[in-house]
Amino acid sequence: MPELPEVEVTRMGIAPHVEGRTIERMVVRQPQLRWRIEPALIKHLKNAQIMQTARRGKYLALFCACADGVRGVLLIHLGMSGSLRVVQNNIAPQKHDHVDWVFATHTLRYHDPRRFGAVLWHDLADGDWQAHPRLRGLGIEPFDARFDGAYIYQVTRSIKQAIKVSLLSGKWVVGVGNIYASEVLFLCGIHPEKPACALTRAECRKLAQHIPALLKSAIERGGSTLKDFVNSDGNTGYFQMNFNVYDRADQPCVRCKTPITRIVQAQRATYFCAQCQK
Ligand code: ZN
Repeated sequence: MPELPEVEVTRMGIAPHVEGRTIERMVVRQPQLRWRIEPALIKHLKNAQIMQTARRGKYLALFCACADGVRGVLLIHLGMSGSLRVVQNNIAPQKHDHVDWVFATHTLRYHDPRRFGAVLWHDLADGDWQAHPRLRGLGIEPFDARFDGAYIYQVTRSIKQAIKVSLLSGKWVVGVGNIYASEVLFLCGIHPEKPACALTRAECRKLAQHIPALLKSAIERGGSTLKDFVNSDGNTGYFQMNFNVYDRADQPCVRCKTPITRIVQAQRATYFCAQCQK
């Protein structure tokens, strides 16, 4: 599943090819993604200019100035298996290439075998884009200045859930997916089954430090180990992070040599060192 770093890398990858460009037309071959693509979107985006790109959680946002004067935001979510890439206009679509945004010289193509992704529209006349129903419940960004130890301590006081599960919920911070949750808890020396409300102030400070640092380093490496990740240049390939615990069951801990433990929490695999994480 593309996690926040892959989405940010996708944004950085497509930005030079879409910002300031005019969409000649949008082609929808399969409207039935997680939510059905509104047919009106095709009309809206005809000759719309993309002003800039942004990201909120795992949503990509393309700010559009439409030919009919409407200003809106095209929201794209990659779901479980979605990817965007830039291809030449004469490249025929392949299976699962559901949507194209065609520019004068190239095409932005959305590919999604499992179709859990989304292509949505927010008309800016309806208010701030971050107030869109799919975005307004999201936790704050890990790179937000407000994301500090005091914030984490405060928001976790009422959360009895295990910290690993609570991190994955995205309710108080976005972007910590399954891989990064295991990794960050190892870096902080926190047991994944510890109730969030039992975190000490010192542990909260460690989380506030390691979460953005880990995600930033993943973005810098160009993404994670995602099998479905397709580079926005059209090259398949993924970037191997050196994980400390993730997917390392029974292998020795990099710090203390204790075999890494694998457990399942809320149907998701968790990896940790029982010695280093108390
Ligand atoms: Zn260890």
